[in-house]
Amino acid sequence: MYIEIKKINNHYDIIFSGWGASTCILLKQMNKNNLLENKSVLIVEPEYKFENDKTFCFWAEESDQIYIDYNSIISNKWEEIQINDFKKQSISPLKYFHISSSDLYKSTRDIIKKNNIIVLNEKVKKVNVENNILKVNVNNQNISCDWLFNCIPFFKNKNDEFNISQSFIGFKVRLKENSFSSKVYRMMDFRVSQNNATQFIYILPYNDNEALVELTRFGKLKIDENESEIELNQFINTHFGDFELIEKERGVIPMDSSIVQQNKIKNWVNIGTSGGSVKPSTGYAFKNMYDHAVKICKNGRLNNFRFKRKSRFLFYDQLLLIILTLWPNRGKPIFEKLFQTRSSYFVLNFLDEKTTFKDEIRMFLNLPIGIFLKAVFVWIYSRFKHFLFPFFMILYVLIFQDNQSIYNSVLLNDFEVFILGFGLLTIGIPHGALDHLTETILPSNTISIKFIFIYLILMVPIFLLWLWYPLLGLIFFLIYSCWHFGQTDFKNWKIENNLLSFLWALSLLFYMFLTHYNEFNDILKLLNISSIPIIKYPNIIALILVLPFLFYSVYLRKWNWLFCIIFVLLSALVNLTMAFGLYFIFHHSRMGWLNLKQKLKISHFKMFWKALPFNVGALLLFWIFFVEMNNSISENIAYFFMFLSCISFPHIICMTMFYNKKFK
Ligand SMILES: Cc1cc2nc3c(=O)[nH]c(=O)nc-3n(C[C@H](O)[C@H](O)[C@H](O)COP(=O)(O)OP(=O)(O)OC[C@H]3O[C@@H](n4cnc5c(N)ncnc54)[C@H](O)[C@@H]3O)c2cc1C
Repeated sequence: MYIEIKKINNHYDIIFSGWGASTCILLKQMNKNNLLENKSVLIVEPEYKFENDKTFCFWAEESDQIYIDYNSIISNKWEEIQINDFKKQSISPLKYFHISSSDLYKSTRDIIKKNNIIVLNEKVKKVNVENNILKVNVNNQNISCDWLFNCIPFFKNKNDEFNISQSFIGFKVRLKENSFSSKVYRMMDFRVSQNNATQFIYILPYNDNEALVELTRFGKLKIDENESEIELNQFINTHFGDFELIEKERGVIPMDSSIVQQNKIKNWVNIGTSGGSVKPSTGYAFKNMYDHAVKICKNGRLNNFRFKRKSRFLFYDQLLLIILTLWPNRGKPIFEKLFQTRSSYFVLNFLDEKTTFKDEIRMFLNLPIGIFLKAVFVWIYSRFKHFLFPFFMILYVLIFQDNQSIYNSVLLNDFEVFILGFGLLTIGIPHGALDHLTETILPSNTISIKFIFIYLILMVPIFLLWLWYPLLGLIFFLIYSCWHFGQTDFKNWKIENNLLSFLWALSLLFYMFLTHYNEFNDILKLLNISSIPIIKYPNIIALILVLPFLFYSVYLRKWNWLFCIIFVLLSALVNLTMAFGLYFIFHHSRMGWLNLKQKLKISHFKMFWKALPFNVGALLLFWIFFVEMNNSISENIAYFFMFLSCISFPHIICMTMFYNKKFK
């Protein structure tokens, strides 16, 4: 069964990366469907899988196929459930079953022997796909396969902010005096401290004096081993008397409602936790893994089936996770009320996602509904917050469309000055004041004299270019701005295409220039650059430049991009300074800020704090230039343009290096 890496073949029909519970379940299903016959199969797993490290429980009727298939290794079953010291309830016709992980691994070992499956005691490093061939990399050796079933978490789930974990410490105990009811499984007993989370005891009695007693915590922070052992000792002593500790069990299950990112590569199927089988609100996965295995082996052949959750139940799970994350102390009253108002049988069916919508509404009405409504509000906000800024930008241009000033003024009214000034102070300048944190110009993330010196030196050639050849200065400024705008957007929208990102930014800038033809020429005049020749139908040309991106954004389902394009299209309704200012501050600067935040993993407050020295410096420069020097308005606009161009150059260098380093 085990083989050394030297003797491994170059190709197998099927490879399992990881010998997890999901692998065991799938192998059993394949064996049942004769799908392993005459197949070369390899399992790559660094552990030996003898340990009894987990207990797998699930509920089903005895007529269900899952029970029939696993009956031979089910070691215990319970017919009643108890919550706290409430009255125990029958769950008939369901029963709650228990399988020891060691029995599950052992039964798989029998299948492995029977089918001459090879086990390689190594770690999978990565999986490559070359010319549509799957290649599993072990110890820098590539092993190709026709099918890959993977239970290793290669893919990180989408980073959902409302993810917590279910962590637990369990004692297998023997009581001095019999006092467990061997037919009653205690699902949740909240008579323990909550510690700013949702904590309960779970008891699986094996007989009248032996049981697994587990302290479980739903929370952001994982359970503390020492504290929970004290809690467990106290709970068992208080409710069941003296006991002897036989074994300990510990574990962590992710409670993450973000949809698992499935790869789209043919014949590569993620299974188990990686395949999205864990129900986020409970941590149960066994039945989902079984259902997944049945679908993979449907019709007596292997199918590329990817596990999908029902969206209604996914939404309920997300609401519960929002509550457990934001208001962790509300978990206890919610669960207690649930079991007081609904039968345990109903609750198990609900967890199995088999209830009707009408029943679910009735159930929610019996629960503390206010907290669920708050959670719905948070859910809506978290789903749509990315569209808030684009939405307000679109609203602004629709409400304040300015037909009079259009095409003939680069000047702003007081309200416009307020909007742009406020935006520049809160987002525009701060987003460029964090370049030291990128650690690109210098390896330290503090502002030093050396850093400022290099920064200023980088600005000098741009300044000289503007002085000597303003047209070249402008062209150069446009090129590196397009590079930077496009790169920032595409990193945020997770699209990898440098040429396209550049073309996108170029098109949007040209759209703005062409739809504000006269204003653009006014600015050129202020910069001492000859105006661009009059062209026919500038608006139509502008539209032709942007429309392909609109269709492409819909094709890619990048709704953030689509919203931004809608803003750009509508920006023709306001003057050029406003159109570009809104885009630059409330779109580009915000995106750059969010990209930095995501990779540096620091709070908004800390970012503002770190940006403060540069912000103050920039404001001082502004003051000297625009107030103290008493220039005319048109001179100020020209200076501002040049200043922006000079200061952007080192910023763009820093951000490009940062993106290349951190967004690979
Ligand atoms: C303590 C515990 C108790 C649970 N109890 C229940 C329960 O009662 N009922 C229920 O429905 N669910 C339960 N679950 C949830 C779920 O059923 C289990 O987590 C289950 O083990 C998930 O199966 P899996 O195949 O995804 O991963 P795992 O069983 O965790 O297997 C992953 C395997 O991948 C291997 N691996 C990791 N990295 C590599 C690598 N680079 N190369 C090769 N192999 C690698 C690991 O060694 C491991 O063997 C429990 C979970 C835990 C942690």
